Amino acid sequence: MEHKLPELPYAYDALEPYIDAKTMEIHHTKHHQGYITKYVNALEGEDALLEKDVEEVLRDLSSVPASKRQAVINTGGGYYNHRLFWTILSPSKTMPGGELLEELKKEFGSFENFKDVFSKAAATQFGSGWAFLVVTEDGSLKVVSTANQDAPFDEGTPILALDVWEHAYYLNYQNRRPDYIKSFWQVVNWDKITEYYNNAK
Ligand code: MN
Repeated sequence: MEHKLPELPYAYDALEPYIDAKTMEIHHTKHHQGYITKYVNALEGEDALLEKDVEEVLRDLSSVPASKRQAVINTGGGYYNHRLFWTILSPSKTMPGGELLEELKKEFGSFENFKDVFSKAAATQFGSGWAFLVVTEDGSLKVVSTANQDAPFDEGTPILALDVWEHAYYLNYQNRRPDYIKSFWQVVNWDKITEYYNNAK
């Protein structure tokens, strides 16, 4: 299959002032594209794996030759995580509802408390990494953080993702990761996350 950079479902400046246009453009065209290019290069000669979607490959890393596995974790993770990340952002204000909201309340006490738990996971991830909300095998919700570009499939199916690499916020927020995380909540696409939740559970 073709591995190409997905188009953003909004303009680069659509998430301003929370995420600035320059950051979005560089993040999408340079960083995300870079991971996709390196992923394809890492799997050169592995035609059967290149025919699969990157999610399928990341969910079954034992199918990847041991010599290429770490490269696939790094580059395939970057490919997959950013693809998810763009879709869970939106310039429109959305809120969780229905079963997802009930489940967030059940798991975390309240929606506000869920946001606190997720924000802490994102803020305290040492160095580069990601925070995710995943649907576990038994259908419950869990906040996890990972280092580098590691995708969280060993914990569950991710339905919400936040990139806390410095390249995701440094131009606008410099070292103020907590301010970036606070802004992030203004542009979360809960309609999309609800769709992912319904598919995953
Ligand atoms: Mn990134």
